Amino acid sequence: MSASILRLEQVSKTYPQRAQAAVDHVNLDVQAQEIVALLGPSGSGKTTLLRMIAGLECADQGRIWINEQMVDSPAHKVWVAAEKRDLGMVFQDYALWPHLSALENVALVLRHRKWKNWRSQAQEMLARVGLQEVAEQYPYQLSGGQQQRVALARALASQPQLLLFDEPLSNIDAVMREELRGLIARVVREAGLSAVYVTHDQSEAFFIADRVAILHRGNILQLATPETCYEKSATPEVARFTGAQGPYAIKLHNKGICWGEQLVLMQDHNWEAGTAQLFLRPDALQLSEDARPDCIPATVQLCGYLGGIWCIEAKIGDEVTQFYHPVNLPIGASIHLDIDWTRALIYPDRK
Ligand code: ADP
Ligand code: MG
Repeated sequence: MSASILRLEQVSKTYPQRAQAAVDHVNLDVQAQEIVALLGPSGSGKTTLLRMIAGLECADQGRIWINEQMVDSPAHKVWVAAEKRDLGMVFQDYALWPHLSALENVALVLRHRKWKNWRSQAQEMLARVGLQEVAEQYPYQLSGGQQQRVALARALASQPQLLLFDEPLSNIDAVMREELRGLIARVVREAGLSAVYVTHDQSEAFFIADRVAILHRGNILQLATPETCYEKSATPEVARFTGAQGPYAIKLHNKGICWGEQLVLMQDHNWEAGTAQLFLRPDALQLSEDARPDCIPATVQLCGYLGGIWCIEAKIGDEVTQFYHPVNLPIGASIHLDIDWTRALIYPDRK
């Protein structure tokens, strides 16, 4: 097993005058050269968790290790200050000094630490993020995307083992966002560093991270590769938060699945009889050429062109679902949908 760069055990935090914990008994590990994204809706505890790792907030309970060194444990009265944790940080609002040039912003921490080669190191970091041309410019002369690259160069400059990102692309326009997420993933990997990357954007988390931790009300619901979070979402919240359609109310029978009026017969399945929530990815549905008994009848409601492919919105009873199709279909057409049930996300209701 490779070395653990960051480890959290049972870490909790409740802010004063708050009934609910912001972070609730979280376990997390980040290995060397691994990028882990914390993905969750607003208020799910991402920033609080990141700030505890950074040493900007202390845990009420639990233990945090960075590079095998315990940095926070209330029970052991252990607390290591932020500046002694050997981290690089990139925030949503860039947090650059307005009176310092790009180069000086990157160099500041190096000069503070009395690096002799601070100038060449800062120049090298700016080159790594493609900014050598604007080294002498001030933040107000730079675009938002450029400012965030300066912040990235600054975070890399002192060569920390662990980088922390808190929604670094939220203030950047859509085109630049895609370019920057690629840049971040590339420079972190090229430098062989580890990172914790906070975002509420599923596609950003999936694109950048080796593993994704899905947060909901201060709990990690799933910590797994992007593919696993997508294909085998652990809970209905994970399915919803990773963009699956649903929930659709279905019934599980010993012979198969009942959705609306239709009973889809299945040879063998492991579900107990009862009601359940169904979630579907658009790519797990397709148009059936014929009205086979294992297909679901539906009506075309809307067709939208996505570029190269159409998104078809279809009604099944009172519920709406989407799938992709190479051509558009007449509105109101009766169709049959072939569902890849091996990819359906089914969560039996608790009895
Ligand atoms: P996220 O980054 O996922 O949006 P946060 O960690 O900022 O979530 O917030 C988690 C919860 O803690 C929210 O309910 C939020 O209102 C609360 N919270 C965050 N910061 C503070 C604070 N300084 N004081 C009190 N409550 C806070
Ligand atoms: Mg936040």
